[in-house]
This record gives sequence, structure tokens and C-alpha cells, in this order.
Amino acid sequence: MSRYAKQVLFKPLGEAGQKKLSTSRVAVIGLGALGSMIANHLVRAGVGYTRLVDRDFVELDNLQRQVLYDEDDVKAALPKAVAAERRLSKINSEVRLEARVVDVSHATVEGLIQDVDLVVDGLDNFETRFTLNDACVKLGKRWVYGGCVGSYGMVMTVLPGEGPCFACLVGEKPAPGSSPTCDTAGVLNTAVAVVASLEATEALKLLIGKAEPPALQTLDVWSNQWQRVKVPRSEACDACVKRNFRHLVAAPSGTAVLCGRNAVQISPVNAVTLDLAEAERRLSALGKVRRNEYLLKASIDGCELTLFPDARAIIQGTNDPARARSLYARYVGA
Ligand SMILES: [Zn+2]
Repeated sequence: MSRYAKQVLFKPLGEAGQKKLSTSRVAVIGLGALGSMIANHLVRAGVGYTRLVDRDFVELDNLQRQVLYDEDDVKAALPKAVAAERRLSKINSEVRLEARVVDVSHATVEGLIQDVDLVVDGLDNFETRFTLNDACVKLGKRWVYGGCVGSYGMVMTVLPGEGPCFACLVGEKPAPGSSPTCDTAGVLNTAVAVVASLEATEALKLLIGKAEPPALQTLDVWSNQWQRVKVPRSEACDACVKRNFRHLVAAPSGTAVLCGRNAVQISPVNAVTLDLAEAERRLSALGKVRRNEYLLKASIDGCELTLFPDARAIIQGTNDPARARSLYARYVGA
């Protein structure tokens, strides 16, 4: 019995579609609620190669909706990309997986997508989506946008050169605090499941060459409203018309407040490597420190610092970028 028998029986996909999936390469960007479910669908469906990209590690409040992780991953403080790869490799050992523990930024984004057929969005913030959109439009990569908050979600495919891009849809970046985020509105795991499933379905269609004309799908699982609307391409779009990719230019600060986390991420301005063992020795004098193969956690000054080998830090216990930067300067200094 073939692993994919039920899916091959589905006529619009069939043997030919399955064959295409098996030679396809996909990057799932962000492995939170949406991304872990998208990766789960694509890997089970037999996509030949999946790059699993996330900057964060597994925490207890992820388990309500992030279906690839369990309590052991929380205890081990595994990066989500690593935990996802471990779980998915037990589900399907016939496909290739690549875990990347990295922040998707102007500096990394093009390298993460340039050798894949399709990019699928599992992100949780607008800033990074603008960066991803710029990179995808620049390189002509198709991508599937999806977002979810509360009981509401939306999905749109971006086909560079053929239809509107994410910047056409959203316009200028919303000012911080002006749109509901998982900070203020929470999120239902059922809404996430529907949005992620729609994203994965659009991904499968694109991979086997049966894409619909791009349109925005919106839904609310609480009020049972579903819509599909055509989105025009913006004639003045910075990204897909003017090709002015300003989100691919270095951000001055390298500081990002993380959605719903009471945490700030600090990225070093220049590429540096942090010796986690050395940092462990240094910081052990100041507070409780633990370390695994991928990261180090230190409880200092009422905050928890998580340090990665690329000298990136996630500082929990504050939403204040200035305080986070000062802790970083004092204890990491990279
Ligand atoms: Zn555009």
C-alpha cells in the first residue's frame, strides 16, 4: 500500500501530481501555529524537500496550537525548527527536511528562499512579511501569505509578475499597535487550523501547476463568515511595480519586539559567532544558566536571556527595546 494512496485517488492530484510533489522544494517560513501545521500537511503529503525556518524556541503556551511540539520539547528548550524536524522525520522518513534556526531578516531572507519552488508563510508579524514579500518579488518566487488573529484569518497567494503582492494588499506597514495582534486578541487553535490548511492547499495546487487566479480569502470561524475577493495590483506598489525593495536594506537597530511574548529580539549588526560554552562560564556567576546544543538560557536581572550561536538574543521579561538593548550590551556585548 502506498503511503499516499488516498491522496493519489483524489483525481485533481493523481499520480502525476504526487510525482510533482515528490520533486518539489518548499520553504516554510516561521514554525509557530500556522507554520507547524503547514509543515505537517506538506511533509505528510510527500513534498520532497522542506526547509523549516524559525528563530524561536518551544514554550509551554505554544502547545495550545502549535501541533508539532510537546512538553518534552518545552523542557529541553529546543528551537522550533529542530523540534519540528525531529517530529516530522518520524512521520515521513522518505522526504528531505532541513532545519534552520535563524531570524528571517534583510540579511538572511534571500538565502533561505532562492533555491526553493515555493515559499509558505507561517510568520506572526507584518515586518517580516514585508521583508519576505520584497525578497520573493525580487527573486520571482511564488509565496502563500496567511495570517490569523482571534477567530479571523486570511490567505492569499502571491505570484510575482502575475498578480498583486503582499504590499499591494496591505499598503504601508500599519503603525505598531494599530492592528490587533496575538498580544491583544489571542487566537483560537481552530482558526489557525483552517488558515494553515487553506495555505497548505494553495501550496499543493501551486506545486502541481493547478493554481487558481490569486484572490484574498478571508474567514471567521466564530461568526461563520467566508469571503473570496479579487485584489487589484497597486499601480504605485513599491515592491512589485517600482521594485524599490526597501525592506531588504539593513534595519538600523536590529531590535524587534516579539508579538505576544513580552520579549525583545536583538540581532547583532555584523555577522559574528558567539561561543556558547564561553558565555555559559561567564554568565554562570551572575544567574542561573543552562545550555543545549542550540542555545543558552540565562536568568539575570529579572529577565531571561536566550542566546544563539549567531549572537542573536531573545530577551524575555520586557517589551522595552531600550532595556533589552542595555541588557544585551552588558551581558552579551557582541
Ligand atoms: Zn505589489
